[in-house]
Amino acid sequence: MDATTAQHTIWPEVELIRNEFPILQQTVNGRPLVYLDNGATTQKPVSVIRTMQEYYTTYNSNVHRGVHTLSQKATAAYEAARHQLAAFIGAHHQEVVFTKGTTDAINLVAAGFRKDILQEGDEVIISAMEHHSNIVPWQLACEEKKAVLKVIPISDQGELDMDAFASMLNPRVKIVSVAWVSNTLGTVNPVREIISLAHRQGIPVMLDAAQAAAHIPIRVHELDVDFLALSGHKLFGPTGIGILYGKESWLQKLPPYQGGGDMIKHVTFEKTTYNEPPLKFEAGTPAICEAIGLGAAVAWVTEVGIHKIQAYEHQLTEYAVAQLRTVPGLRFIGEAKHRSGAISFLVGNHHPSDVGILLDQQGIAVRTGHHCTQPLCDRFGIPGTVRASLAVYNTTDDIDRLVEGVQKAVTLLG
Ligand code: PLP
Repeated sequence: MDATTAQHTIWPEVELIRNEFPILQQTVNGRPLVYLDNGATTQKPVSVIRTMQEYYTTYNSNVHRGVHTLSQKATAAYEAARHQLAAFIGAHHQEVVFTKGTTDAINLVAAGFRKDILQEGDEVIISAMEHHSNIVPWQLACEEKKAVLKVIPISDQGELDMDAFASMLNPRVKIVSVAWVSNTLGTVNPVREIISLAHRQGIPVMLDAAQAAAHIPIRVHELDVDFLALSGHKLFGPTGIGILYGKESWLQKLPPYQGGGDMIKHVTFEKTTYNEPPLKFEAGTPAICEAIGLGAAVAWVTEVGIHKIQAYEHQLTEYAVAQLRTVPGLRFIGEAKHRSGAISFLVGNHHPSDVGILLDQQGIAVRTGHHCTQPLCDRFGIPGTVRASLAVYNTTDDIDRLVEGVQKAVTLLG
């Protein structure tokens, strides 16, 4: 795309999409809101808000155990949401476990490996660009089992060193767990190649799809990935809900994560037998309204079309990168060839939070800091970045406001 192309020639429908997000229609600090913090959380369309309101106003009830009408309706809607999520990622519904989010899903898998699979001297591979939630659960598991956490190095552009990765694979490696898309660098990792290299040696792969789900089509069976985690709130859904996809054979094999109601088949004081997956991993009353809301969110994404979203965001990202590049003294952190719309940068020697505060004063929401990737920031020798992260409702006008805003911030900071 020509970097100067006007927004309406990129995708006219974006204005209709924006109208579905009430929160975007406001001013912040006297200026129309420009929301560019989608990597942290996305906004919610009216269809999600209405679905959740309808649940609480007409059929709020507990799931799975009730014979009464409201409970049956709630159960049907909760399980329908599981089917919607399964269809969205190309899985069977039995392979979709509702979790609190990506962090919870990774902890679930890491806890299972920690209990039943990892042995002293085993290895777990992650990468240098992981979010803390894909570092610490594995670190805890490795510490307890005296296993070794290995880290795939990255280049200065923010791309995985795939030769190094290939050479790290060996029979001691029990799992590879990596981000599909880096929340800080925006790098889109070569997940097919990662899975194929690991599988050649019989090693399972977990993908952290927190930053992929709202931007890239996911087909887990086609990918042949073993586990995948995502968060509802980064996918136009509510907070407190996400999913773990696990191949059925793996979900059978992993031990329960938590004990309680719903995850059991039969309990005596001597011995408990467990429910079949996915319920085996859903102890206690789940986040019912949130799961149903997430179902509505993926229905919304499906209606818009994830391929259309991907194509539009690709153009918008190119536009944003080209426009930001014109700001004197601005440097990008992360310049991978395959990238998403999470765009990190620094300007001169200005601290990211100073730039972020001055952008906020102009009604522009970005995230600043280490983005829960401290080891990655150490790798680049920086305290953090300013991160503008795009979603389908962003426009070239938003990018123009950002560029203008950064220029103004730099002038004010002197
Ligand atoms: N992984 C990545 C790449 C992320 O960007 C995030 C959140 O920013 C997470 C994991 C954690 O997601 P959550 O806090 O929703 O569990």
